[in-house]
Amino acid sequence: MRLRNITGSREVIADSDYVVQESILEQCPGTWSEIFGNDNPIHIEIGMGKGKFIHAMAKEHPDINYVGIEKYSSVLLRAIQKMEEEELPNLKFIRMDAEDIAKVFGKGEVDKIYLNFSDPWPKDRHAKRRLPSRQFLARYDVILKKGSRLEFKTDNRELFDFAVEELEPAGWKAEVITYDLHSDEKLMEGNVMTEYEEKFSSIGNPICKYIIYR
Ligand code: SAM
Repeated sequence: MRLRNITGSREVIADSDYVVQESILEQCPGTWSEIFGNDNPIHIEIGMGKGKFIHAMAKEHPDINYVGIEKYSSVLLRAIQKMEEEELPNLKFIRMDAEDIAKVFGKGEVDKIYLNFSDPWPKDRHAKRRLPSRQFLARYDVILKKGSRLEFKTDNRELFDFAVEELEPAGWKAEVITYDLHSDEKLMEGNVMTEYEEKFSSIGNPICKYIIYR
C-alpha cells in the first residue's frame, strides 16, 4: 500500500505520542512492559497499513498490548488519525522496515505476530523481501516467545503457497492451514477483518490463512 506522499506526515509522526520514535528504537528491546506501563502480553502486526485491524483488536482486547509496524509515513499517518478519533492506551505504532524487527524487540518478548495481506513481491529475486519468507521467519524466531503463534492471512494464493513451502526449511509447523477462511465457521470466531480482507473478500476472493509455531 503506497499513498501519495502526504505533506507533513513525517512531522505528525515525529510529534505523536502514539508512535515509538525511531531515535529510541534501539533502546526498546526488553523494555516494552515499561513502554506500556504493564506486563500484559505483546502482539504485533507487521505491515499494518492504515491500522484498521490492529485498532479493532486493541479495542476488543484491552488486556493485550499491541504494536503496529508500518514502513511508510504516509500510511502510518492514517493509523495515527484513527487513534486521534479513538485513543487506546494499549496500542503503539512504529515506522520502520520490518527487516530490523529483531533490533526492536528482545528475545521472546513478543507473544503473537500478525501478518495480514503482506506485499507479494512477485519476482523470484525479491522473495527474501516477502514478510512470510524464511529470512523473515528467522527474525520472528528471535522475538517470538517459544510455542507462541504467528498468524498470516492473504487472498494471494501464490504468496500463500510460497509461505507454506517456507515453513519446513525454516523450522516452523502449521497448526492451521485454510484456503477459504470465510467458509470456516470455527476459524471465523473472533475474526477481525483487515482493510484488504474486506476489499478482496467483497469481490469474492477466498481468503487463505495459516497459524504457525515452532
Ligand atoms: N495489513 C493491512 C491490511 O491487511 O489491510 C495492509 C496490507 S498492505 C497490502 C501491506 C502493508 O505492509 C503496506 O502498508 C506496506 O507499506 C507494509 N509493508 C510492506 N513491507 C513492509 C516492511 N518490510 N516493513 C514494514 N511494513 C511493510
